[in-house]
Amino acid sequence: MKRIIVVGAGAAGLMAATIAAREGAVVTLIEKMNMIGKKMGITGKGRCNITNNAPIEDFIARTPGNGKFLLSAYQQFDNRDLLDLLTHWKLKTKVERGGRIFPESDSALEVRDMFMRVFKGYGGTLHLNEAVEHLIVDEGAIKGVKTNRETYYADAVILATGGLSYPLTGSTGDGYELARAVGHKITDLRPSLVPIETKESWVKDLMGLSLRNVELSVVAKNKVQGKMFGEMMFTHFGITGPIVLSLSHTVGKLMKKKNIGSIELQINLKPALSQEQLDVRVQKDFQLYSKKQLGNGLKDLLPQRLIPVIIKEAQLDESKFINQMSREERFRLVHTLQHLTLNFKSLGPIAEAIVTSGGITVKEFTPRTMESKLIKGLYGAGEVLDIDAFTGGYNLQAAFSTGYVAAMHAVHGDLDNK
Ligand SMILES: Cc1cc2nc3c(=O)[nH]c(=O)nc-3n(C[C@H](O)[C@H](O)[C@H](O)COP(=O)(O)OP(=O)(O)OC[C@H]3O[C@@H](n4cnc5c(N)ncnc54)[C@H](O)[C@@H]3O)c2cc1C
Repeated sequence: MKRIIVVGAGAAGLMAATIAAREGAVVTLIEKMNMIGKKMGITGKGRCNITNNAPIEDFIARTPGNGKFLLSAYQQFDNRDLLDLLTHWKLKTKVERGGRIFPESDSALEVRDMFMRVFKGYGGTLHLNEAVEHLIVDEGAIKGVKTNRETYYADAVILATGGLSYPLTGSTGDGYELARAVGHKITDLRPSLVPIETKESWVKDLMGLSLRNVELSVVAKNKVQGKMFGEMMFTHFGITGPIVLSLSHTVGKLMKKKNIGSIELQINLKPALSQEQLDVRVQKDFQLYSKKQLGNGLKDLLPQRLIPVIIKEAQLDESKFINQMSREERFRLVHTLQHLTLNFKSLGPIAEAIVTSGGITVKEFTPRTMESKLIKGLYGAGEVLDIDAFTGGYNLQAAFSTGYVAAMHAVHGDLDNK
């Protein structure tokens, strides 16, 4: 029987350990925290957005950090396979807006508990409060791990230590050092899926205001570098929400480029309308409220709190009567409604990011098996690898799929080459 050590009991490690145990290996799962799946417990605001019902092409497209590397893993274990497995393990799921899949109970803890129950049921052994400090390698092959307590020998080791964000959950980047020490390269580590700080101080007046069905564009060098449609929110320092988090990846990449200059974030508050259509719509409102002052005539178009900001940004006078406004002033208003501009100041810290962009370079791992090309018997899974996706369940699916594939190949060897 193969002896397999899994380092880290997050999404990737739990899946890897459970599958390796199911496949008959003697599995030791080592977790440095006092419980398993601490980060999993806070995913999806405590509801755990497990995966998405999108087709695999969308998973790849929504994984800006090395999506193509995951293709082979998804061909072996995709979202459908995951849902079948969860059903088999008696976890009921439901689909929500945007194809997001959650446990029917809305409880991330149920997902975590399910893994524990199934892993133990297959005879796996769990060590809590124990941190792996070294990988033992001899003549290019893994031999085991050394922890703060003991040395363990194994035929294969699956490294699933996660990234650098939310360090209180145990994801403190240990895996990068463990891998670096045995010769692997680590790419630049940056926050991804993180709020954005802006130079404008007026954002704090709008703190908590959420905008739905808007389009946000990242503009640099007079070019749109990325745009997204959906929901965003103002904070005391800038902006956050699903489309902001996703576009933070684009901003992070731009920041690495030389001479990129300043970066702007443009909000189109009325993306469903062309400029001409919006102008017609504004004219209708202007007719209706012709005797009112501008500050009191925009309530059908905009949330109340946004009205003074738009008027100021369009350099208009809120006390001016609408029937006295010029065509040029109306155009300025229409333009601002579709180009409300914020100047980028910085990305939020990596500790507050949903995922880490960067990690152990995937060039040194075989996509079909998740085995290291440098060290035989060493496998990587989850966020410790240079993989990061958008929100929507894509990061957890990446962790589950890579964990599954690593376990299958660690137990059975390179199945395709037998
Ligand atoms: C607030 C928040 C919400 C999120 N919501 C979602 C969501 O709804 N859907 C989604 O798809 N993604 C979500 N994500 C992203 C997702 O949680 C991660 O991408 C995913 O958890 C990565 O899984 P992992 O197993 O690779 O790493 P982790 O879940 O970080 O697990 C790594 C584990 O390894 C352990 N470890 C680290 N070093 C050692 C060591 N030296 N020895 C032993 N153990 C060690 C850690 O303690 C940890 O338990 C969210 C992230 C955050 C922060």
